[in-house]
Order: sequence, then C-alpha cells, then structure tokens
Amino acid sequence: MKFLKQFFSNLNKSINQIKIEEEQNLVNSKIEIKSNQMNFSQNNIINELVKFGITREDFFKRKEELYNKSKIKDNDNDVFWSLCNELLIKNASDYNKLRTIYYSMAIFLHQEGKDNFILLQESARATLNQFNLSDLEVNVEINGCSDSCENCKKMNGKIIPMDEAYSALPIPCKACTHSIGFCRCFYSAIPIRDADGMLIPKLNR
Ligand SMILES: [Zn+2]
Repeated sequence: MKFLKQFFSNLNKSINQIKIEEEQNLVNSKIEIKSNQMNFSQNNIINELVKFGITREDFFKRKEELYNKSKIKDNDNDVFWSLCNELLIKNASDYNKLRTIYYSMAIFLHQEGKDNFILLQESARATLNQFNLSDLEVNVEINGCSDSCENCKKMNGKIIPMDEAYSALPIPCKACTHSIGFCRCFYSAIPIRDADGMLIPKLNR
C-alpha cells in the first residue's frame, strides 16, 4: 500500500505529496522539542521567518517600526504576526507557501497559549487548493501521525472526494485529544483511476 501511494504521488509532481509528508514530519518533530518551552526565543522567531524569505534585517526593521508606533519594547511576537500577515498577502496565489505559513502561524499561536484551530484549518484548506491545481482528478486521504490520538487514528487512511474535504473540513480533527494540544493530521492527494485503471485527467484544462 505504501509503495502504491509512493507510485501515485510520483506520477504527478504538482501534487507534492511526499514533500508535504516530509515537511509535516519535520514540523512534528520540532513541536515535540518546542512543546517543553513556554515561548519562542527571538532567534526561533527569526529562523521561522527566514524560511519564508524574511531576513534578520527585515525583522529588526519591523521591530523598530512597531516600537516607534507603540513604544512597546518587548514586541518580538508582534513583529512575527505583522510579517506573517504580510507574507500571506504576498503569497496569496502560492498555496504551497500559504500552507506552510499558516502552519507556522498555528504553531506560534499555540505557543502563545491560544487556540490555533482556525489557522490549522487555513493550512489544510491551502493544501486542498494546492491539490486542486493538479491536472488529474484526485481524492483526498486523511493521514494521522504515528502517535496520533485515538480519534485521529480512526480517521487515518480515510479517503474522501475533494468537494467533501472542502465542505466537511475533517482536518484539523475537532475531537483530537492529543496531549500536544492540537491535531497534526494532514492530507495526501490520491489520483482517481477509471474502471480500466487509468488516471483521469481533469477536463477543461
Ligand atoms: Zn488527534
């Protein structure tokens, strides 16, 4: 089964399934480490932003700008949110980037002790939008992690049509009970095959 999945995903690079799984695993391992810390340090914040093309100079420039407005010195978190909101606008048509930016924002918000459900939902929606760019008709598989909670494990491997994924938004799982504090399930794209086992190209492309 794993081999078949690998095979399907290789058929259509735009689906980007492997990359998503690898990134998500990386994020998950990072969360494990970070979950012991109360806050992101300034370096953590900058390193996170660098992934999206923000430089240290950009960070400190924005820090100064915000300080000049608010006179609040301890504003690293505000700088993060300010730059992220800009990144969302700048990358509005790059769903793969949006997916990772929203995910970073979600983890950051969780670290601030706030509910990150909506941001995880936006990240999952961006994943669906990315899959939608595929030239092939695809279904969506819900994937849990190896240490997912029982509720998420029940969903693991479930394959649903794209439109159902958009309307039902099964990720993040509302019933997730994992001690990490939020659902880490993610989508993979599974190309649909016709009765002859052939992949189905999207019409009107
Ligand atoms: Zn869960």
